[in-house]
Amino acid sequence: MSSKRKITVAYGDGIGPEIMKATLGILEAAGAAIETDVIEIGEQVYLKGISSGIEPTAWDSLRESKVFLKSPITTPQGGGFKSLNVTTRKTLGLYANVRPCKAFSPYIHTHFPETDMVIIRENEEDLYAGIEHRQTDDVYQCLKLISRPGSEKIIRYAFEYAKKYNRKKVTCMTKDNIMKLADGLFHKVFNEVAKEYPDIEADHKIIDIGTALIADKPEMFDVIVTLNLYGDIISDVAAQITGSVGLGGSSNVGEDVAMFEAIHGSAPDIAGKDIANPSGLLNGAIMMLVHIGQPEVAEKISNAWMKTLEDGIHTGDIYQEGVSSKLVGTQEFAQAVIERL
Ligand code: NAD
Repeated sequence: MSSKRKITVAYGDGIGPEIMKATLGILEAAGAAIETDVIEIGEQVYLKGISSGIEPTAWDSLRESKVFLKSPITTPQGGGFKSLNVTTRKTLGLYANVRPCKAFSPYIHTHFPETDMVIIRENEEDLYAGIEHRQTDDVYQCLKLISRPGSEKIIRYAFEYAKKYNRKKVTCMTKDNIMKLADGLFHKVFNEVAKEYPDIEADHKIIDIGTALIADKPEMFDVIVTLNLYGDIISDVAAQITGSVGLGGSSNVGEDVAMFEAIHGSAPDIAGKDIANPSGLLNGAIMMLVHIGQPEVAEKISNAWMKTLEDGIHTGDIYQEGVSSKLVGTQEFAQAVIERL
């Protein structure tokens, strides 16, 4: 039997194929012991009339490999199409969305060089649970679902994450001054679970002031755990203040299966030009390597990637006169990382 770990890969839409090619090239050069099984998702599948955006047979690959490295896809506008991301998270039970947001100052410009936070977002419940209906032509209702088991699972995940990665503080964000029952339950469970981790500081912020503080004093946050919608919004704020959306990777973790991706979308405006930054997907792939038990390869790639940034070899989205030394395209950036492995 091959000692290589099978992973399911999707090249996606827009810049997806370019950044996946760059990422897999780096993984191969670094000696990652993986074997890829490619599945089709996104525009081509939607165009065939499959409203979920994923070939039905692709689920077999995902259930067998249990690890999914996914490029972004273009979600078609208009009714009838389902969000592939939401479908994937629910079908595979990917309850935790983990998004590290770290500044790489002075190599990448940011007003907040001390930023180093990890946002852990509940991924299955809240207003994304899909309980939405028409009451009259002028009134539509979307219900918020918060459960004790769902809350406990994500909050415990956040504390375990903090313990594993030696982080000191977990901040919970809710709007429980208004949604006293639903958000109140999440906050209550947070207080209960926090007692099991006396060495980790536990803190709570109301989501509105919490978001303002992320935008102004991000260095005060370490690990943040929050509900689905709030997490979706604050993770984009946090990524933006560290530099470029092209940098961040994320994982979607379940009991059985995990999915790794870039935080950005398919960027159709720059697709096919070999100018996209592959760093976001590469950072997702680095998280994947840790997950499948190849942390040495992950560290080797992470160091080579940082060295590339430090040497000023930058794609257009992070290029800065005076800081950068060379403007490169997607594949040339990947080659520069490979040379530094
Ligand atoms: P986007 O993230 O694709 O692009 C926003 C801006 O950031 C664009 O100007 C783009 O050129 C730039 N950008 C994004 N990634 C970059 C990279 N790696 N390097 C350099 N610049 C980069 O967001 P959007 O334009 O709102 O969405 C485009 C499509 O992507 C939509 O169809 C949306 O539904 C989809 N989308 C998919 C995912 C996913 O599959 N995970 C996530 C978000 C959006």
